[in-house]
Amino acid sequence: MELSNKIYVAGHRGMVGSAVCRALAKQGYTNVVTRTHKELDLLDPAAVRAFYEAEKPDVAVIAAARVGGIGANSAANALFLYENEMIALNTVWGAYKAGVKRLLFLGSTCIYPRMAPQPIPENALLTGALEKTNEGYALAKISGLKLCEFLRRDCGVTYHSLMPTNLYGTGDNYDVVGGHVLPTMIRKFETARVNGDATVPLWGTGAPLREFLHVDDLAAACLFVLNMENPPDLVNVGSGREISIRELAELVKRTSGCEAAITWDSSKPDGTPRKLCDTSLIRSLGWAPAIDLEDGLQRTIAEYRAAVADGSVRL
Ligand code: GDP
Repeated sequence: MELSNKIYVAGHRGMVGSAVCRALAKQGYTNVVTRTHKELDLLDPAAVRAFYEAEKPDVAVIAAARVGGIGANSAANALFLYENEMIALNTVWGAYKAGVKRLLFLGSTCIYPRMAPQPIPENALLTGALEKTNEGYALAKISGLKLCEFLRRDCGVTYHSLMPTNLYGTGDNYDVVGGHVLPTMIRKFETARVNGDATVPLWGTGAPLREFLHVDDLAAACLFVLNMENPPDLVNVGSGREISIRELAELVKRTSGCEAAITWDSSKPDGTPRKLCDTSLIRSLGWAPAIDLEDGLQRTIAEYRAAVADGSVRL
C-alpha cells in the first residue's frame, strides 16, 4: 500500500475497524474513507455500489459485521446469516464492480468445522460440519472469503482474507447482553467488585479452550498482509496460546481485584470444545503478535474503568 492510497474501512466504529483506523493513522495513512451506518446501509446493494462508484477507493478493508457472543449468535442465527451475508456480498462485489484492486476481508476462526484438527490450519475450511451455535455467522463469512477467492482467481484482483481468533481490547462492546466471553467477564467481575457481590455467575462448565488476541495485534496483522504483494488467500491470526474458560475467569478475576466466588451455570452452552488456530502460516510470513494476554487484559480493564468513569459504558 502507498501512503497516498485512498483506503475505505467498512465498520470503522466497531472494535476491529477502529483499531485498523488507528493503525493506519499511526503509519501515516491520511486518505481514509469511512461511512457511518446512518450514512451508508451496507445491507443495501445499490447504496453500496453508488458509494464505491463515488469514492473509488484504492483499497478496501471489510471490518463491518453483526457480531456477538455465543448467546446472541445461537438465539439469532437467521439474522446473523442474513446481515453478514448481505454485508459480505455487497462490500466485496461492490468493490469489484467499481474497480477496487485491493481488498482485505475479515472473517473469524468460527468458519472452521467444529471438529477441525487443533490447532486449526487454514486448509481445514469446509472439511466438516460447523459449530451450530454460530452457524449463520460462519456461513456468511465463508461466502465472503470465497467470493474474494473466486474474484482473485477469475478476475485478477488481489482480494484476500484474515481469520482472527477471539478478539478483545480497545473499543470492545460491554453494553450488550449477548457479548463475547472476555468483555462479558470483565463487566461481570468489575460490577461484582464495585458492588461487593459474593458470586459471579459464568456460563457452561469452564472446560472449553479458547485463544485471545488483542485487537491492536489484529490491526497490525491487517497492515502486514495489505503490504504484501501476493498474500495467501486465507490467513489465520491468533496468539497461539490456549487458555481454558476457567483459567481465563481466574485471570480476569485476579486482574480486576474482585473477590467474589465464581459459579458455573451448566444450563448455558459451552460451544465448540476447543478453538485454537494454527498461526504457522502468518508467522512464516514474518508476523507475530506483540501483546500478551496478561498485559492486554490489564490495559483493557484500565480502559474499561475509564469508560465507566466517563459514562461511555454503563454498568
Ligand atoms: P465462542 O468463542 O464463539 O463460543 O463465543 P464466546 O466469546 O461467547 O465464548 C463462549 C465460551 O465462554 C463458552 O464456552 C461459554 O460457555 C463461556 N462463557 C462463560 N461465561 C460466559 C459469559 O458470561 N458470556 C459468554 N458469552 N460466554 C461465557
